[in-house]
Amino acid sequence: MFLITIGILQVSVFLTTIYLHRAMCHRGIELNPIVANLMHLQLSLFTGIVPRQWVAVHRKHHHFSDREGDPHSPYLLGLWHVFFGNFFLYRTEIRNQATIRKYTPDHRPDLIDRLPVFKHGYGAYLGLGVFMLMFGWAWGLAMWGFHVVAYILLNASINSICHMIGYRNYDNLATNHQLIALLTGGEGLHNNHHEYPSSAKFALRAREIDPAWPVIWTLERFGLARVKEEPIAKAA
Ligand SMILES: [Zn+2]
Ligand SMILES: [Zn+2]
Repeated sequence: MFLITIGILQVSVFLTTIYLHRAMCHRGIELNPIVANLMHLQLSLFTGIVPRQWVAVHRKHHHFSDREGDPHSPYLLGLWHVFFGNFFLYRTEIRNQATIRKYTPDHRPDLIDRLPVFKHGYGAYLGLGVFMLMFGWAWGLAMWGFHVVAYILLNASINSICHMIGYRNYDNLATNHQLIALLTGGEGLHNNHHEYPSSAKFALRAREIDPAWPVIWTLERFGLARVKEEPIAKAA
């Protein structure tokens, strides 16, 4: 039961970085529409994230990046405030319609966006139903709760720890943290990402490991994805 939940968590993490972050937000990857809708469906069920909202908040983060206006900078708010409060900072920002409009004028609704149950994040309750069908109501609720908390804290670690603790290849305030990268599908290589946001590959030095990259590479080999922004060759 625990292993299945960890497996679902890792799928959520991989789809967050591949679909939400690298494809939808920074447009470094173009996904086959069926694959994109399936990824969107999984995230709607197990995280409740509405992609347009996530993309808007994240683009605003890149726009201001640790300056006044950044929705979740640990330099402005404090490391632990962002680590434990990231979920609430996100919830506050997605209610700001000006943010959504300003940062996502390119948004085109897909099939999942058109289904009313997923419009406001209510799909997460269907995800709870899936957990209960798999494990019974009590353990299902417990494992769903574990998935929610672990997913939130893994994302929070990027916005907090990976802006302060770790090493830097480039001259920006974000940091690389290989252990966090292994747990987050490569997201922990955040200093690299802030330097080259539209690069589909986050590992830019020989010793760095980006776990999502082999998945993207495989999708591309099967014709299900197209990497638009080539990895930065000079840094490899
Ligand atoms: Zn960042
Ligand atoms: Zn980004």
